[in-house]
Amino acid sequence: MSVTLSVVVPLYNEEEVIGESYRRLKAVLDGLGETYELIFVNDGSRDSTWALALALAEADPNLRLLSFSRNFGHQTAITAGMDAAAGDAVVVIDADLQDPPEVIPQMLAKWREGYQVVYGLRTKRVGESVFKRLTAKVFYRTLNALTEVHLPVDAGDFRLLDRAVCDTLKRMPERNRYVRGLVSWVGFRQTSVEFVRAERFAGVTKYPLSKMLRLAGDALTSFSYKPLKLSILIGSLVSAASFIYGIVIIFQRLFTSVMVSGWATLACLTLFFNGLILIMMGIIGQYVGRIYDETKGRPLYIVAEKINFD
Ligand code: UDP
Ligand code: MG
Repeated sequence: MSVTLSVVVPLYNEEEVIGESYRRLKAVLDGLGETYELIFVNDGSRDSTWALALALAEADPNLRLLSFSRNFGHQTAITAGMDAAAGDAVVVIDADLQDPPEVIPQMLAKWREGYQVVYGLRTKRVGESVFKRLTAKVFYRTLNALTEVHLPVDAGDFRLLDRAVCDTLKRMPERNRYVRGLVSWVGFRQTSVEFVRAERFAGVTKYPLSKMLRLAGDALTSFSYKPLKLSILIGSLVSAASFIYGIVIIFQRLFTSVMVSGWATLACLTLFFNGLILIMMGIIGQYVGRIYDETKGRPLYIVAEKINFD
C-alpha cells in the first residue's frame, strides 16, 4: 500500500504523553487530506507505553507499531522507524510534544516545493533547564568547529525526509548513529522551518546526562578526526619545549654555577604528562571501541513485535 506521509515517533517510557501525543498528531494528520501512516517505535519501555500503544493501534489501522526487545536508544529507534516507513516523505518527531505536530504541514509544503530535507530549527526553547540549554549550545558549536560537514545549530531530529534521502540513509548501516549528522552529510536539497521548542507535555526527559554525553561522543567520533590529531599537536609542543629546556640545562651546567634541582617539579611533570597520555589513549579508545562495534556486525536493533504492518 502506498502512502504519502510516514510519521515516526520514538517512545521510551512515555505512558504520560502517548495519549495526548497521538491525539495531537491525529488531529494534524487527518487535516492534511493525504494518505499517511503513523509509526510508533517502542524503545523497550518498562512502563505501560506498549499496552497503551496496542490499545490505540487496535482501533486505528493507520497506526503501526514496532517494539524493540529492549532499550536501544533514541537514535536507533528513529532509525528503525525510518527503515519501516513506506511514505514518500518521512517525518521524525519526538513523543513528548516538544516538537509541535502543527509544524508538519509547513514541512510538507516545503517538501512540495521540492526540498528533500526539511529540518526544524528551534528559535526558542521553552521550559528547558538552563543547564540543558547551555550544554546544547556549547555542544552544537563545538561540534561545528570540529567537523567538516556543516551541522545546523539548534536543529534536533524533528525533520522531514524525502524517500530518496530515507533510502540513502538505509544504505548507511553504521552503529553509534548520530542521525541528524548523517542527514546533513548526505546532502540533497535541504531547508528549514522555524519553530518554538515547547515544554515537555508530561513526564521527565529520557535523556540523562550519561545519554547526552554518549550522543555527543557518537557525533564527534562519527564526524571528526580532530581529537585524534590533538595528541600530535600536544606531543609536538611538549617535544619542542623539552628540547629548548634541555639546551638551557646544558648551558647552565657548562657556563654557570647554577645547580639543576627539583624533585617536586619532576614528580609534578611526570604525573601531568602521564595523565595527558592516558587521556589521549582514552580518546583513541573511543574510536577503537566504535570500530570494534562495527566489526562485530550485530544487528542495529531487534524488533520483538510488529503491529499493523501488512
Ligand atoms: N527516547 C527513546 N529512547 C531513549 C530515550 C528517548 O526512544 O532511550 C525518545 C523519547 O521517548 C522521546 C524522544 O526520544 O520521544 C526524545 O527524548 P526526550 O524528550 O526525553 O529528550 P529531550 O527532549 O529531553 O532531549
Ligand atoms: Mg523531549
